[in-house]
Amino acid sequence: MRGTRAVIDLAAIRANYRYACELAPAARTMPVIKANAYGHGMLEVANALAPLAPALAVAILEEAVSLREAGVTSPVLVLEGVHDAAGFAEARVRDLTVMLHDAEQISALAASGVPVKAWIKLDTGMHRLGFPAADAGRVVDDLTHRGLLVDKPVLCTHLACADEPGNTHTRAQLRAFAAATRGLDLPRSISNSAAILAWPESHADWNRAGYMLYGDSPLPGGHPAGEPLRPAMRFEAELIALREIAAGESVGYGARWTAEQPAVIGTVAVGYGDGYPRHAPDGTPVFVNGRIAPLAGVVSMDMITIDLTGHDDVSVGDTVELWGDRLPIQKVAAAVGTIGYELMTRVSERVPKLYLNG
Ligand SMILES: *Cc1c(COP(=O)(O)O)cnc(C)c1O
Repeated sequence: MRGTRAVIDLAAIRANYRYACELAPAARTMPVIKANAYGHGMLEVANALAPLAPALAVAILEEAVSLREAGVTSPVLVLEGVHDAAGFAEARVRDLTVMLHDAEQISALAASGVPVKAWIKLDTGMHRLGFPAADAGRVVDDLTHRGLLVDKPVLCTHLACADEPGNTHTRAQLRAFAAATRGLDLPRSISNSAAILAWPESHADWNRAGYMLYGDSPLPGGHPAGEPLRPAMRFEAELIALREIAAGESVGYGARWTAEQPAVIGTVAVGYGDGYPRHAPDGTPVFVNGRIAPLAGVVSMDMITIDLTGHDDVSVGDTVELWGDRLPIQKVAAAVGTIGYELMTRVSERVPKLYLNG
């Protein structure tokens, strides 16, 4: 078998979840397992966390339905909500909680003829989804008087810049949310991972922890609150060939990388078909036998090439770590010009997952 795989440590995910809870002891912390648990496998992560967590969150109805079909009975929040009467009917049958963020959804909810469990999203400055924050009281009254809610709703907002400690936009969003929800006797939810780590003043009745569960901090540059997090995914592949090339020879498609001196090139069995980013530049780090080696040449669909000049201890069959415990995903993401969220989420179906500590 090809050695390309994602090794997922469920104990790390549980430990990271417990850490998110410890950082906000007064809050209930909801694991966010959308997008296949950020590439880690939604059902496996749901089963690992359901016994510890008061509820789970996904982005879309289809994800929530797969949880239910797999027998997950925890409360489940659908963060983007549903958009038509059939969606509300399905949410009701599956006992899901849906996010309400605009008037069209409320019309569809009324048309579905059944009340639902809902959270209400308020726009405090991200301007992506949410009722104008100042309308909070009016929206709650309207839903309550029309009998459209099963339970008390949670009032929710999402922060645009929580990954920048001290950011003034975040301060303004927190003030706007406090002003809009003042006097309403309802639970509140503000924090994502970055806010759980860096904005204790944002911790509320419910926190929504996504990325940090998977073992990296969304805060760039090693914020101390992120240090206890344990990487949950080791993305690895096998070194399948080694060759010596002369100075002036080039490697891979487009001959992008050229040896300035005699070089040793290793070919590794992972490519963009596995979710390794095709736009990774030369120099993107990989980890082999205790050392970092740089990418050398364009990423192919099924292979990458790395510069192993001076690595005397490597041989065909060795395991290469693309990211994981020894090579933080944040370093790879920085080299590639993206964020760890995108790298982990894109690991493709072709890559088998091996679960530890299930
Ligand atoms: C994805 C998402 C989260 C989790 O964000 P992280 O940065 O991964 O912790 C929280 N809230 C909402 C509304 C989301 O869509």
